[in-house]
Parts: sequence; structure tokens; C-alpha cells
Amino acid sequence: MAEIELEHVTKRFADGTVAVDDFDVRIADGEFIILVGPSGCGKSTTLNMIAGLEDISDGELRIDGVRMNDKAPRDRDIAMVFQSYALYPHMTVRENIAFPLKLAKLDRKAIDEKVEHAAGLLDLTPYLDRKPGALSGGQRQRVAMGRAIVRSPKAFLMDEPLSNLDAKLRVQMRTSISRLQKSLGTTTVYVTHDQTEAMTLGDRIVLMRAGLIQQVGPPQELYDHPRNLFVAGFIGSPAMNFLAAEVTGDCLRTAIGDIPLRGRLRRAVEGRGPKDASGEKPGEVRREVIAGIRPEAFEDASLVHDRDSGGSFTGTVDLLESMGPEKLAYFTLGARGVRSRYLEDVATGEAGGGAQLVAQLDPKSQARRGQPLRLWFDCEAIHLFDPDSGQNLT
Ligand code: ATP
Repeated sequence: MAEIELEHVTKRFADGTVAVDDFDVRIADGEFIILVGPSGCGKSTTLNMIAGLEDISDGELRIDGVRMNDKAPRDRDIAMVFQSYALYPHMTVRENIAFPLKLAKLDRKAIDEKVEHAAGLLDLTPYLDRKPGALSGGQRQRVAMGRAIVRSPKAFLMDEPLSNLDAKLRVQMRTSISRLQKSLGTTTVYVTHDQTEAMTLGDRIVLMRAGLIQQVGPPQELYDHPRNLFVAGFIGSPAMNFLAAEVTGDCLRTAIGDIPLRGRLRRAVEGRGPKDASGEKPGEVRREVIAGIRPEAFEDASLVHDRDSGGSFTGTVDLLESMGPEKLAYFTLGARGVRSRYLEDVATGEAGGGAQLVAQLDPKSQARRGQPLRLWFDCEAIHLFDPDSGQNLT
């Protein structure tokens, strides 16, 4: 097992592309860490630098305190699992899993014991004598995992290992990877672009954008306290709603009505928010902010008693999606979408010229497409962002 430290690690490709910029994270022994972000943000490059498949341009990589920058991949004692599985088609499952042990010249008995133990952990015992061509995608992926765990490496590196599986299998494999990692306790770095995988698998998430780390923390922390508009829009599904908000005396004027400026919201617009990283002087009242409300912060007002901290909004339901345990109601607001230089990557969804709003409702809601619906929302759940810097002010 291993502690992996990346200290100010940068990757500059020959053509000048900076794929990873000053990546600085310490991964604890036994930790399951997720690198997540949109396509091209530098996740795979980071993983490849840890594996030794890419050189590090600047900074230092240490495993258990030992500098690894110039060590060959085989000397790092790390196992990698790719989305392509990379199995040998002419070998049986047993031979595929045993392959790294044969290379390491273990004796026959030790190999058999280790292969059978791994097959047991991965529910592969009945398939040991089959060839990969006679296995399902999920079984093949488990063979690839078997080949990684059989060596008892210091760490696992996984690059989108589930992306070739169908939706149901992904969920199954997700839970088995999670259980396996916890029972083996092996430090794991896992790359995905899927925020659901990131939220469910990781002890901590590293969310990247254009080579830069946006936030590092446990999944719930990124969900509850997103540091900026990008994190807020990326984590959570459906994505957080963003609304332009004008500060007018005692309230915030938005397309879903006036929101009273009290407590933390008032402190935020006055530049006294706990997380105000914009460097503005305290006491300088903002005129424009972006309000963020998660779809799950809304409720069908007919199903709740109004509470003190709440606001309400009535709109016509454009579209209704019944998901079983919840209903998603979409509204088009009579206002433009928000403008921020952060917006290019943030899902703010404008439909038909107006900002779009989505509310996640209880399945008991009687909401109907084309009919007006009164929504209740919790003001405590509102985040305020600086339109220019994208920073969360609340
Ligand atoms: P995806 O989710 O699409 O796999 P990613 O987050 O893993 O994306 P990387 O593959 O790490 O992203 O790529 C990061 C950036 O580096 C991208 O802009 C990519 O185009 C660039 N890049 C990758 N390899 C090279 C290379 N050999 N030379 C120049 N630029 C490269």
C-alpha cells in the first residue's frame, strides 16, 4: 500500500499544450480518489504521469516518500486498469489473471492460490477455463481487475474502467469496485468524466477543468459547498439552476421572484461571506450576483406547509419527466440566462430564449405539462456566485 504525493506537478507537451497545471494533491494510503472533469481537462495525463507512461515536466511525484519522476513504470509497483480491458484473447481467464505472476516467476502453487483467491473475490471462479471471447463485458472487466489485484500492487490506477459497459452493468460494477477497494484497502486513483461515479465511488474527488484543479474534497463537500460556478454546475444531477440576481435594498430580484436578503445571503452580497475569495474589500455591496438553486431544493408547494425560510414561484410546466422515485418539472423563465465568463462550461441551459429552470419533485406531485404549478424553495439552499470570478460567495 502506498501514499502518493503529487507536488506542483505540471505536464507541458512538446507542442506547448499545458495539459496539467500545478497539480498539488497528497493521496493517503488506502484512499480511493477520483479524478473527474470534462473531456480534455487532463485526467488521463495525470494518471499516466503517476503510472510513468508520461514524463513529468515540472514538480515531483513521490510514492511512499520516494521520488518517482525518473523511475520506469515497472519499478513503480502500480497496476493499471483501462477501459479497453487489454486481455489476451487466446488465453483462458486463469492464464490472463496469472500472466503478471508468471512474468514475476512465481512458482506454480503460489500462482494457483493467488489466481483462485482473486477469482473468488470477483465471482469469476466458474469462468476460469473460458476464453475472453466467451465472456460478457462485465466479466471481461472483472478479469482485467483480477489481473491487477493478483499482484498485490502498491496502488491501482483506473482509467474509465466502466465506460464500455451498459448502464445497468456500470452500476453493478461500481458497487463491486467500491467493495473490493474497501476490502483490499489499496490506494486507488480512478479517472472518470461521470459525476455520478465520482460522487458514489470516491473518498475524495479532484475536480479538474482545463488542466487546473477546481476543488478537492469529499463528494458531499463538493455538493454542499462548491467553490465556484464550475464545480456547482458539474456536481449534481440534474445540474444546479443558475439565475441572474440583482441586489435591490432588502432583496435579490430574480426571474423566480424576490428573495429576501437575510443572514448568510446578506453577508455574501456585502462581501462578508465566509468563502469570499474574490479579494474585494468587505463592505462593498455587489449589484449583480448569480443565484444557484439545486433542482432538489424545490418542492411542489401544494405538498408542503410554507416555512419561514422559504420563497415561492409560480410558472407553467413546459415538460415533465416521471422518473419513478421523482418527477422533473421544467420551466422556461421570462428572463435571459445568466452571463459569466465561467458559463462556457457550466450547464445553465437556455431554452427558447429564456433561462431554463428544473425542479425535482416528489412523485406525489400533481404537476401537469402545460399547467401552472406553484413551487416552494428553501432560501437556505441558495448559493450566490460572483459573475466575474465565478467564486461562491455564500
Ligand atoms: P478525456 O476524458 O477526453 O479522456 P482527459 O481529461 O483525460 O480527457 P487528457 O487526455 O489528459 O484529458 O488530455 C489533456 C489535454 O492534453 C487535452 O487538451 C489534450 O488534447 C492534450 N494532449 C494529450 N496528449 C497530448 C499530446 N501527446 N500532445 C499534445 N497535447 C496532448
